[in-house]
Amino acid sequence: KARNSHEPEFLQAVEEVLETLEPVINEMPELQENAILERMVEPERVILFRIPWVNDAGKVVVNRGYRVQFNSALGPYKGGMRFHPSVNLSILKFLGFEQVLKNCLTTLPMGGGKGGSDFDPHGKSDGEVMRFCQSLMTELYRHIGTATDVPAGDIGVGAREIGFMYGQYKRIANESSGILTGKGLSYGGSLIRPEATGYGAVYFAENMLATRDEDFRGKVCAVSGSGNVAQYCTEKLNELGARVVTLSDSNGFIYDADGIDAEKLAYVMELKNVKRGRISEYVKKYPKATYTADQRPWSVKVDCAFPCATQNEISGKEAQTLVNNGCRVVSEGANMPSTPEAIEVFVSNKVLYAPGKAANAGGVAVSGLEMTQNAMRLSWSREEVDARLKEIMKNIHDNSWNAAKQFGNEGNYVMGANIAAFLKVANAMVAHGVV
Ligand code: NDP
Repeated sequence: KARNSHEPEFLQAVEEVLETLEPVINEMPELQENAILERMVEPERVILFRIPWVNDAGKVVVNRGYRVQFNSALGPYKGGMRFHPSVNLSILKFLGFEQVLKNCLTTLPMGGGKGGSDFDPHGKSDGEVMRFCQSLMTELYRHIGTATDVPAGDIGVGAREIGFMYGQYKRIANESSGILTGKGLSYGGSLIRPEATGYGAVYFAENMLATRDEDFRGKVCAVSGSGNVAQYCTEKLNELGARVVTLSDSNGFIYDADGIDAEKLAYVMELKNVKRGRISEYVKKYPKATYTADQRPWSVKVDCAFPCATQNEISGKEAQTLVNNGCRVVSEGANMPSTPEAIEVFVSNKVLYAPGKAANAGGVAVSGLEMTQNAMRLSWSREEVDARLKEIMKNIHDNSWNAAKQFGNEGNYVMGANIAAFLKVANAMVAHGVV
């Protein structure tokens, strides 16, 4: 703790996991003998580098780049790149640590890592974003490889940024390979990858609802964010008969009591992905909806909540408001969106609560399937990838449920997901010796 005292998000993520592992650690002395916990909380390698690039005004700008190669016990490091001004080592270490366990839950052979930069793509021209991505990859290319480390997208890194980074890697390394996931369809991407995280969070919630013989028909849902995960979460909820009434961005949220149906969602996708506009513009197009600045959508009365924006976006107080208003399902599309106080509220009120490492694992699962397709040099159909995604999300649900039950906490998905993932990674580390 002292060694990482300046890394609050990392400490928060580790503490949340360690608290739930106590029953396991106490029963398995070999884990203590091998210092598995001590090794698991220390990244295998952290790379920090300079990213100089030239903006449209001809000025040289310098950003900081990172790649945290956290744990390779189960396979190559795998995890997204985040471009956001808030990016620092604490945030990337928390994300990398979570990624190790999440990737394990998918049952695919992937270790965990994370990376990114404090670069802010908002308001930058395509040319600026391209020059930045090229400069980043000019350094990063020497640290990654299809059997070493395979980065992907995250906040601020979508199809455009992956394309620019891929192009530069291909040029420098003189090879066409599956070095990144989330690629465009024409150059090695997988169908369903853009949809996978949002769809997966809904599939996970569907499995949770099934334990109470319920489904999504008629359920009113709050979704936060309006980026990749939020958009496809909304699409799947609509398909399953739910009504999504909110979306947000870092400036505020919109509330549309009639529901953000397929036509309105198409408008949001155009607004956010093509025009790169703000969610506040929604109410100009649909004046019956309301926009609330500087607030998150958790005050609205809903049955289910899907936080799909960023870390620590639901406080304990907001969680209590959700519960008081009748919310009974929370499935995290984002990473660590609930504060520890919020998690406590959900768990103690028997909310069907799915932590991000379980609920949002669909994205990296389909990234794993993209790696498989690239290695085989073929592409699977939409139906095939979606069927595999559904099956993986059901397995993650069932494994988490069973692990929690085995350790006397039926229905506690936080504990179940942590234990199921930890045991597998820990056993692999013991098998590899002290490395
Ligand atoms: P996008 O960049 O596509 O969208 C992010 C959304 O969250 C935007 O609406 C953005 O608003 C909002 N947001 C970002 N930072 C903040 C902030 N500090 N406060 C409030 N709102 C914020 O990212 P994704 O949809 O890909 O990622 C969303 C979450 O899902 C992240 O936690 C990510 O780690 C997680 N995730 C993503 C996966 C993927 O496959 N993409 C996989 C697994 C998890 P604005 O436009 O104002 O910045």
